[in-house]
Amino acid sequence: MLRYRLVAALALLCAAAPLAAQSPLPATNPAVRSALDIIKADNAWTMQQEVELTRIPSPPFKESSRAAEYKKRLEALGLANVRIDSVGDVIAERPGVGKGPTVMIAGHLDTVFPAGTDVTVKQQGDTLHAPGIGDDDRGLAVVLAVARALQKAAVKTNGTVYFVGDVGEEGAGNLRGMRYIFEKSMKGKIDYFISVDDAGLGIASRAVGSHRYHVTYKGPGGHSYGAFGIPNPIHALGRAIAAIADIQVPAKPKTTFNVGVIQGGTSVNSISASGSMDVDMRSEDVKSLDEVDAKIQRILRQALDAENDRWTGPRAAKAKLSLVIDTIGIRPTGGQSDAAPIVQTALNAAKALGFTSSTGASSTDANIPISLGIPAIRIGGGGAGGNAHALGEWYADGSTGYLGPQWAALIVAALAGVR
Ligand SMILES: [Zn+2]
Repeated sequence: MLRYRLVAALALLCAAAPLAAQSPLPATNPAVRSALDIIKADNAWTMQQEVELTRIPSPPFKESSRAAEYKKRLEALGLANVRIDSVGDVIAERPGVGKGPTVMIAGHLDTVFPAGTDVTVKQQGDTLHAPGIGDDDRGLAVVLAVARALQKAAVKTNGTVYFVGDVGEEGAGNLRGMRYIFEKSMKGKIDYFISVDDAGLGIASRAVGSHRYHVTYKGPGGHSYGAFGIPNPIHALGRAIAAIADIQVPAKPKTTFNVGVIQGGTSVNSISASGSMDVDMRSEDVKSLDEVDAKIQRILRQALDAENDRWTGPRAAKAKLSLVIDTIGIRPTGGQSDAAPIVQTALNAAKALGFTSSTGASSTDANIPISLGIPAIRIGGGGAGGNAHALGEWYADGSTGYLGPQWAALIVAALAGVR
């Protein structure tokens, strides 16, 4: 029954695929069907990958142990040209048999957890608990499962498929792995990109961009009584925060801002020498993001001037504050719509497997290609998960976890084209 529905749906998928004219996916392609069967039958293998990779700590900027292991596992699957690039991304190739579009599928190697975090995987019923088990060891396991199934079933794709475990997806990493791949090492070589990130069966088709800054007001500081009358960095910070809090942003496209961390001061009776804050702003629209950024930059300078102008006299003149803005991270966004063929292909592939997916916006590795105009999506790796980025993170495969890797494999096959 499932197989019949799958065949019928594959026919639909073939008709709907954007590159159908160049690379039709035969509705009854036995190799693709066999790959999907292998994924389901060998679900325990996929789970094993997920658990074993989770046990290898992979803090931000320290992904090399997990990268080395990931490389070994891709090599063991018989993929070609398996390498670690100069920023630490692991890349393997499965050459196409024709000149079809190239497809990259990736999970990210890094976690948000610092070195020393206990990464023991604990099982409770069918739920696995461990930091990173879903985000993104699920994605890494799915990428391996897709590669293995295409290999075992000898699926012939027209275009080359790249299997990747990349570095720097999380916060401070600032998408450095993807930036290096798309802007330098493999610039112009990838036609479609799929990020498998965390659990579930959702699609992120739109990229939420973000700008993050560490802002510091600096001055000489001094005694709160003895040096009174000089500009105060913490007061300047307060002026800035009060004005930021009053910024108006559109509800659609959703645009946000936040002062997330404030620092400064040594004692109640000191004028601090510095006052600093971390500011974050996000939007899925480039223009709205740039607008809120410009407003915040203006506010930061106005607060500086207001605090410096507040105090007069020779003493105050020698104690003028300065403003330093350091960039924590810039994640670009782009204008990909849900009508994009890659999004439609993913929605149709879900239908082909008997479930309905939906689209949304998020901030992932797919931001980089989307900002460059390269079709890209983030999909969930199946199963269910929660508490990502927390020590209580969990993943439950349930009875349908295999749908995640099946879905990923079907999307890859449809985009690369199959003989
Ligand atoms: Zn992630």
